[in-house]
Amino acid sequence: MSDLPLLQAMDLVKSFGGLAANDGLSLTVAAGTIHALIGPNGAGKSTTINLLSGELAADRGAIRFGGHDITRLRTHRRSWLGLKRSYQVTSLFSEFTALDNIAMAIQAQAGHAFRFFAPARADRRLREPAMDRLRQFGLDAIAEHPVSVLAHGVRRQIELAMVLATEPRMLLLDEPMAGMGQAEREEIVRMLVGLKGDTTILLVEHDMDVVFALADTISVMVKGRSIASGGPSEIRANADVQAAYLGDY
Ligand code: ADP
Ligand code: MG
Repeated sequence: MSDLPLLQAMDLVKSFGGLAANDGLSLTVAAGTIHALIGPNGAGKSTTINLLSGELAADRGAIRFGGHDITRLRTHRRSWLGLKRSYQVTSLFSEFTALDNIAMAIQAQAGHAFRFFAPARADRRLREPAMDRLRQFGLDAIAEHPVSVLAHGVRRQIELAMVLATEPRMLLLDEPMAGMGQAEREEIVRMLVGLKGDTTILLVEHDMDVVFALADTISVMVKGRSIASGGPSEIRANADVQAAYLGDY
C-alpha cells in the first residue's frame, strides 16, 4: 500500500436528461489499496464506474490514471493502460473450459505476440500461466470443465480470474457479488482478500460487512458526489455518513 494516487477523478459531472447522476464527483484511489465506494441506491455509483471505465463519457471533469489524463480515452485504451473492469459472466465463452477461457484472456492481452499460436489451449506458454491463475484461486479442480456446466458463482469467480490473468493495474468492480448466495459470496471475498496490496481495486458493494472487512479506504457517495472518504473506523464514526447512509451500522 502507498499514498500515491493511482486514479484521480476530479469534479466529474454526468447528467441523464435533467438528472445529474454524477454531480461533481471527486475521488482519489491510492495505489495498492482496496477502495470501496458505498452509498444509497441511485447515488451514482454505477455511473462513476462507467465514467472511470470509459463506457460513459463525462460531461465535465477529468480523470487521471497512472500519470495519464484518460478523460477522453475510449474503454480499450484505458484497458491497455491497465484500468479494467470485471463484467458478470457475459465475457466468458461458455462452450470452452475454464482453463481455455483464462488462456484466451492471456492471449488477447499478449496481442500480436501470440497471434500465430492459436488455439490458445494448445499453447503451453498460455496454459501454464492460466493454470497458475486457477490454482491461485483454488479453481484448478474445475480447469477442464466447460464453463456451461459450472454453477453461477463459480463462473463469476472464473470471470474475475480471467480479468486478473491480464494483470490489471487497477480493477473496477460494480457489485461483483450481486445475486449470489452466501457461500458463493464468501468465495469472491476470499479472492479479493488474496489480491489485497497487489491489485488496486475500486469496489462498489452494498454489503457493509464485506466493505468494512475488505476496504482500506471507503468513500461515501450521496446524490452524485462523495461526501466522505477515509479509513473504515473514520467512516464508521462520521456523523454525516451515519445520517446519510449507514444508520446504526
Ligand atoms: P447507483 O449505482 O448508485 O445505484 P446509478 O449510477 O445507477 O446509481 O444511477 C444514478 C442515477 O442516474 C439514478 O437516478 C439512475 O436512475 C440514473 N441513471 C443511471 N444510468 C442512467 C441512464 N443510462 N439513463 C438514464 N438515467 C440513468
Ligand atoms: Mg449501481
